[in-house]
Amino acid sequence: MNFKIKILYFLFSLKYEKWLYRNKVASLQLKRWQKLKETLKKSSFYKNILKIDGDLTSYPVINKTIFMANFDTINTYGIKLQEAINIATEAEISRNFNPTLNGITIGLSTGTSDNRGVFLADEDDRTKWVACILDRVIGLSLSKRKVAFFLRANSNLYESTKSKLLSFNFFDIFIDPANHIDKLNLLQPHILVAQPTILMFLAKNVLSGNLKIKPKKIISIAEVLSSEDQTFLTNAFNQQIHQVYQCTEGFLASTCDYGTMHFNEDFLVIEKKYIDEEQTRFHPIITDLLRTAQPVIRYELNDIITEKKDCKCGSKYLGIQSIEGRSDDILVLNDCKNIAVQIFPDFIRRAIVLSDELITDYAVIQVGQNVLQLYIESTNMGSFQLAQSSITSLLLNFNIENIIFEKVELNPYVIGSKKRRVRNEWK
Ligand SMILES: [Zn+2]
Repeated sequence: MNFKIKILYFLFSLKYEKWLYRNKVASLQLKRWQKLKETLKKSSFYKNILKIDGDLTSYPVINKTIFMANFDTINTYGIKLQEAINIATEAEISRNFNPTLNGITIGLSTGTSDNRGVFLADEDDRTKWVACILDRVIGLSLSKRKVAFFLRANSNLYESTKSKLLSFNFFDIFIDPANHIDKLNLLQPHILVAQPTILMFLAKNVLSGNLKIKPKKIISIAEVLSSEDQTFLTNAFNQQIHQVYQCTEGFLASTCDYGTMHFNEDFLVIEKKYIDEEQTRFHPIITDLLRTAQPVIRYELNDIITEKKDCKCGSKYLGIQSIEGRSDDILVLNDCKNIAVQIFPDFIRRAIVLSDELITDYAVIQVGQNVLQLYIESTNMGSFQLAQSSITSLLLNFNIENIIFEKVELNPYVIGSKKRRVRNEWK
């Protein structure tokens, strides 16, 4: 079947089944799980533990380390990890964005060299992914639309969405975004897709009059979009900012008409592993019921999620109140009894943004035991002191008193990297 026809076919079956099972999500998941079990027979890792009647919970929970260690046996094509890394790295260096191996697309995720994720997608996976993105993110339309897509590497996964009605224009995030302004003015994109750091830069240029674009839809990807950035962007672009929660492990969630992100539970099973006593924050354990080249079964992500209940849209799919970053961004500080206390990134974020509304950017990096580097960007000279006092009083609530602050003069953010305003570099 022609690739585009396959996309349309899958798109309509996705929509139809979502509608048909609108009140029975669990039945749809079960049906897709039974089908997926057939595919798992081709994975030597899962074949050995496969139980004919086994439900999902009888499978082991894995994480990135286990996943990468067993990459060769988990994937259903017998592709070796080293082989995949070599091909993807070579492609990224030469900026040839179509690395494939026997027709299987190979992608690399961001991260340090020992922490990079590799993803595989065969033609079926690509078809489904494109259909899902068209359905949940870009939307179907019979008018011609231009998409400006900011990416770290173009992938044929994205290019495959191209058609007469939809043109994709790739913007390299490793280039200083200032160089993209003229190109954007010329292009006049209908849809703008970028990470929050870039959207913030573009929004400031819209306000200053340098950038004159009027996209109909703006989609934030790749990084955590904080609520204050979201408000800024909404005002600057004068429209709702859509979000997509997508990572190496799959397309996980996107915003509804009310601005809430919902997990794609029609094809994802989400188990919650709570990480605090109050059971408000959890790591999602995901099972992707559609992916076949690289099965994702009970895979624990280290993102910290808080749940949103009763979204006005009425969706039964799990809503996301916030994604607070990753668990390795949690600060670990000693209190006055020398007991290590975990401080969630969101606590620090709130302490800073509420301390002075003139603060436009900031970073907090733990670099030693009870040593925090603090960067504050503001037009007010006193903002640094206000932010520092605010963090100090927050930490006092946890009996943490002896914090050493180091003032950082330059924004520690590196172009092209994922922005994490609060992070822990002290392990
Ligand atoms: Zn909703």
